[in-house]
Amino acid sequence: MSKRCPATSQPEQDCKRVRRDPPLPSPESVNLIRQRNAQESPLLRLPAELRNRIYELVVGGHLIHVEAEDKKEGCSKSRAFDESAFAQLTIWQSLQLKRWCDHKSLHYYPCTAASEGEAYDRFLDASALEFLPGDDEVFANNWRLGDRYHVLSCKERHAKCLPQDDDKKPEWMWAPIDRSRLAGATNMSLFRALEFGLLQTCSQIHHEAKDLPLSANTFSVRDLVSFLLLACRLGPLRAQIIKSIHIVLRLGRDREHWAYWLAVPKISHGLSGVRHFHLSLLIIHAGMGDDGPFRDDFFSGRTTSWLSGLDRFRALPLSCVTVILSDDPDSKFGIKGFSDSALQYGWSHDNETWLQLREHECLTAEEKRRWAKQLKSYLLNETSDLVLR
Ligand SMILES: [Zn+2]
Repeated sequence: MSKRCPATSQPEQDCKRVRRDPPLPSPESVNLIRQRNAQESPLLRLPAELRNRIYELVVGGHLIHVEAEDKKEGCSKSRAFDESAFAQLTIWQSLQLKRWCDHKSLHYYPCTAASEGEAYDRFLDASALEFLPGDDEVFANNWRLGDRYHVLSCKERHAKCLPQDDDKKPEWMWAPIDRSRLAGATNMSLFRALEFGLLQTCSQIHHEAKDLPLSANTFSVRDLVSFLLLACRLGPLRAQIIKSIHIVLRLGRDREHWAYWLAVPKISHGLSGVRHFHLSLLIIHAGMGDDGPFRDDFFSGRTTSWLSGLDRFRALPLSCVTVILSDDPDSKFGIKGFSDSALQYGWSHDNETWLQLREHECLTAEEKRRWAKQLKSYLLNETSDLVLR
């Protein structure tokens, strides 16, 4: 005997069959609503330039961290990217992408740090001094502003915006300090974070502002898989609407992959709308198994192999470029490299040896600033010279 639908006493199968979506409004009534909105809405009666400015203020001006993360257990949805855009890549490229991206989905984190423009101004300011007094602070001061070698890295600036890479332990094991550190890293719906609801209020507003979430915000990626997933999800045509991008690049890791993928026509075509390019470079020093550049490499021009993928951006008419160069905090000359007992084997656990190595292998803060400005000029096609002098 078939089950009954309680409301209608009809067999359940029939009940499903009679359920329908509400009827669509007729073209005439849609026109009437549109005309009434245009005549009566205070927003739609404003001049178009003012309306556009209001739209930009509502849905624009954010930096959005885009992160490819492992899908949660039990998540069977495979909507990590636009399959049709994915299929536009050639077959063997797709296989490689598939291997990287199959178990990943995109997450969005609204940035809570200062803008990249402000961070760049601070990076160029050599007068900042954040030393703390006391014997206990002597070595900690090596990673505070005012130190001869240290500049603030993007990893430290955005630490509260993003989930931490190292936290694999279950939540119940977190110490209170871990919880407070992760409090800012809230994965949000892009829809809610950017007040996309505005775009649904009427068809005219939707038509006028639908591209702004992509064109009026900065999208930040710190690894290649996140970048490729975003590009695939948007597809080349939608990706071209993006005007501002922030890329975190580790000098010493993934450089061949970035160079390769930025040269793929479907990917590079998708970047053609970019006008604002913010680049955060992290030096992963040799000795950590990552083959990063030594200090001498910057003075001899041997850095080009780490940057070959960036030539793609030189072909664009960029109007705003910022470059921040820092040591990776997890690398040999970062605080983790110094304090991690396993990594201390590289300098025999002797602080004096570490200081001497830093002097030979690490760029000073002033040299980092000089070379970053040179790379900025290079990206803006003002020079082809990347040799630090
Ligand atoms: Zn951030």
